[in-house]
Amino acid sequence: MNLSAELDRCVMCGMCSQHCPTYQLTADENETPRGRIALIAALSTGQFTADATVQTHLEHCTGCRACEAYCPSGVHFGNIMNEAKTLLPKQSALPTLSSQTIRWLRIYQRSGLQKITRASGLLKPLGLAQKENLLPPVPDTPDWQDYYPVSSETNHCGDVALFTGCIANVFDREALDASRRLLNALGYGVQVPPAQGCCGAMALHNGQTDEAAALAQQNLQAFTKLDVHAIVHTTSGCTARLSEYSQQLPDGKSFVGKIKDISQFLAGIEWPTDLPIAPLHKTVALHTPCSLQNVLHQADAPHRLLQRIPELKVVPLPQNIRCCGGAGQYMLAQADFARQLRTHTLDALDNISPAEKSQQKPDTLVTSNLGCALHLAAGLRERGQTITVTHPVVLIARQLKLIE
Ligand code: SF4
Ligand code: SF4
Repeated sequence: MNLSAELDRCVMCGMCSQHCPTYQLTADENETPRGRIALIAALSTGQFTADATVQTHLEHCTGCRACEAYCPSGVHFGNIMNEAKTLLPKQSALPTLSSQTIRWLRIYQRSGLQKITRASGLLKPLGLAQKENLLPPVPDTPDWQDYYPVSSETNHCGDVALFTGCIANVFDREALDASRRLLNALGYGVQVPPAQGCCGAMALHNGQTDEAAALAQQNLQAFTKLDVHAIVHTTSGCTARLSEYSQQLPDGKSFVGKIKDISQFLAGIEWPTDLPIAPLHKTVALHTPCSLQNVLHQADAPHRLLQRIPELKVVPLPQNIRCCGGAGQYMLAQADFARQLRTHTLDALDNISPAEKSQQKPDTLVTSNLGCALHLAAGLRERGQTITVTHPVVLIARQLKLIE
């Protein structure tokens, strides 16, 4: 990308500012997209050095890309920030989840050590309590088969490829498994290429462009030759990254053309009329991740999918257009801002009006992005609220008795 040309697109009108979550928190011009663009322009021409203040203002950006949605000049702010990160000192990236790390986390949780550690109060003085609270139960992660055919009684409509990711492959496993089973039930064979890897979003957002490109290349090679209708994934943040591979890799266009959020794919296909979807007599609140709204432009897909569940009342979360702060590494690296943003989202959940609740308090918060799910679930635990956070596909797969 030509950074200078992209920066020149910005006419400094400020129409994006009021939609920026960090400006809403701080009322500081340096915390607006326009302010950040001015800082990046000064940085890129050597007028400024990347001192701690400049770095802080840039790293406070959640990457929600709400600014892009409101920019009349079509500024690609996400691309600008990715380039700007290469000009900053690197943050330490999240460690990759090796099988050994996962094994240790399971032992930590299942041996009772986690309960003892939390009860001891030791984590607080070490500054680790908030981070540890983000850790959800580590599920079993059996190896995937390369291919899951449809049953002999089901009409085969074709094949779909499932992107499993890295962290999602562990912590979004229930949604991935629900997706696989639901696709099979709807007549789609599911291919899970074993050579796939991390989507590279964390590396890119951390300024590690070479590593991000290498991961993109690995996934192109793993998926490109497959004869599939779509390549689907359950975590919209990763899906958003997959959908933009062609910006770095010109040969990625056909791959990108097949990338779909799982709800987008499921909401867009014909369903057999005789599927036994059990009614669900409850109200759920629906959270819309920024990546689903501002990058994939599929904000309504989960709602359309959930409408297939008889009797279910779906209430979109008020202020859905505001980032919850669960933006990948952001919730750890910028924990203070992330918590403030989460407070707004959880307050909005508390403030769903009685009429919208239809006399029934939502006991489930539905979201399509793992980062948001972990961040919001940790916030609900801290508040002592017993609201479950789940994926829309999990909800519908349960009503079909495909999962427990
Ligand atoms: S990406 Fe989001 S947080 Fe960053 S400048 Fe744009 S609106 Fe603000
Ligand atoms: S990014 Fe777009 S909306 Fe924001 S100041 Fe620049 S031109 Fe205006």
